[in-house]
Amino acid sequence: MKAIIRDDDTSFFTSPTALERLYQPLWDRGLPLCLAAIPSQCANVHVDYRPGRPIDPSIPPPYRGLDEEYPIVDNQELCAFLNEKARQGLVEICLHGFSHTYMEFLSDDTRLIERKLTQGKQILQAAFPDAPLTTFVAPYDRISQTAMEIVFDFGFDLCTKTENLTSLPAWSHIGPYQGYQLRNGRKLFTSDEYLFTHREDPDVCLQNARRRLESESLLIVNNHYWIFYFDWSDSVGALHESWRVFVDDLLARPDLQITTFARCDDLPLEPGDLAHSAQHVDEPRTGSHAPPAAAQTGGGA
Ligand SMILES: [Zn+2]
Repeated sequence: MKAIIRDDDTSFFTSPTALERLYQPLWDRGLPLCLAAIPSQCANVHVDYRPGRPIDPSIPPPYRGLDEEYPIVDNQELCAFLNEKARQGLVEICLHGFSHTYMEFLSDDTRLIERKLTQGKQILQAAFPDAPLTTFVAPYDRISQTAMEIVFDFGFDLCTKTENLTSLPAWSHIGPYQGYQLRNGRKLFTSDEYLFTHREDPDVCLQNARRRLESESLLIVNNHYWIFYFDWSDSVGALHESWRVFVDDLLARPDLQITTFARCDDLPLEPGDLAHSAQHVDEPRTGSHAPPAAAQTGGGA
């Protein structure tokens, strides 16, 4: 069996220490981590589906509500730290939207999505030149069909919630914790839950995670690193302890391979196809993930 650990919301605001305290046991054993990184996080983002529309808790309190964007490349300590990890094969970066505004990729605005992908990719490639960047993760895990098609056209693989697939006739049958090779040459991964959350009892989080570890052949563990320090505390508590125990469980499994989205191959073929991606059928996949020509003229890497 395989496991992929995907941590969301690494950004300008993330300290190396916050990641080290969670993932050093993996890195000590040479095991890799996928970080879904926000290229230029906006600090004034409300979570509309929560009562009272709070500011997104991935933004530290001193910055909340400021009408500014914070490019990740301006956190040089973090970039140096993660590039060193990338050179050791311990970190893979995923593109996590652009500014992490509320459900920014649920949009059908083609030009806006293309611009965000082009600029987001440029920022992350400049910040992390040594890290693989092949997979897209939508902010709030919501993505429109339009955006999904463009993400694939840009050459990205996708990890997403099955909620985004239910309206697509070709893929509505796909459940969580799946990985597929698609006909368009990309890969599709699904994961529906964050097993470790401050909204649940830490012991229950651990029990749920252990159950998934027993039942899934491809376990994609979604985390938010900031949840373990909620709300931006320097100290960690019982949830961190549950995570630490779960990591021990992972490391104790001789049959478990911890991998990444880019490295996870030998996936079954999913024969369904998105309506507008038919032209990519049988198109060989390139290693460079070059965006289409139209996007390149917009400044793509
Ligand atoms: Zn996020």
